[in-house]
Amino acid sequence: MEEKIARLKQEAAEVIRKHVDSLSQLNDIRVQYLGKKGEITSLLRGLGQLSKEDRPRIGQIVNEARAQLEALIEEKNTQLKAAELQQKLDNEKIDITLPGRKAWAGHLHPLTLTLNRIKSIFMDMGFSVEEGPEIETDYYDFEALNLPKDHPARDMQDSFYITEDILMRTQTSPVQARTMEAHEPNSPIRMIAPGRVYRRDDYDATHSPMFTQVEGLVIDEGICFSDLKGTLELFLHKIFNENIGVRFRPSFFPFTEPSAEVDISCVMCHGQGCRVCKGTGWLEILGAGMVHPHVLEMSGYDPEKVSGFAFGMGVERIAMLSYGIDDLRLFYDNDVRFLQQFK
Ligand SMILES: [Zn+2]
Repeated sequence: MEEKIARLKQEAAEVIRKHVDSLSQLNDIRVQYLGKKGEITSLLRGLGQLSKEDRPRIGQIVNEARAQLEALIEEKNTQLKAAELQQKLDNEKIDITLPGRKAWAGHLHPLTLTLNRIKSIFMDMGFSVEEGPEIETDYYDFEALNLPKDHPARDMQDSFYITEDILMRTQTSPVQARTMEAHEPNSPIRMIAPGRVYRRDDYDATHSPMFTQVEGLVIDEGICFSDLKGTLELFLHKIFNENIGVRFRPSFFPFTEPSAEVDISCVMCHGQGCRVCKGTGWLEILGAGMVHPHVLEMSGYDPEKVSGFAFGMGVERIAMLSYGIDDLRLFYDNDVRFLQQFK
């Protein structure tokens, strides 16, 4: 009996030490010797058949053998688990000496920054910001602005037509007509309409088929040209600087009468004359005028009771002059080296 136990113990120890190299194999061994029907377990069960004298002694030997085997299995179990973990670590090894990848933080585009500044100046003066569709009807883009189908001024803006009556808007002025229509006739309006506009044009340093415009409209009783002048002078002094020169030149637009081009003294040469201002010392910056009575009538307003002024400017041009950028295409080329400068 003692011999049988000793042999079993040795056999099991040998298998565990030399032949077991996985946790599942180890578990099979555990079942084979220590399980419910295991060899050591059945020895313990057989103790009852031994004589009273032999029982305690043999029982002790079997119990010791079981304890030793359990300890051996536990030890092997720890080894195998450690080996498994090490293998996992080796497989998932990360080379921490490699430089990390930096997360890129986004920031606003220079045109958005400029537009935000323009909006904020006008909002401080009590203007609302209105928006409208970029795909417009011929009526809102031209007719409601005093440009009937045969008007020669339509040639000034060669447009992208989708059908004969629907086009990409050539200006943000349709938003003015839409806003007027949404108001009670003759009720006061003080708004700007920022947004993208489209014209068939070349793509070069100063032209783009798509650009950003801000137009403004003020309507109330007794609005006169001095209101227009004061508002635009204040705006230009805020967006550029207090000392910039501002001048108004007579001009023509179909939707305003009288109309004016507004110039600022050259931001590059301060009026001395340079390449940017073509030696004149002045830069054209926006167009403006008193709203044509016919435009008021088209949107249900009575030109005998109210009057107003309107203005429009290109956001790209203001951004170029503010930041000293000489090529319009830089805004649209998505060159990170350029854009990063506006962080
Ligand atoms: Zn100049």
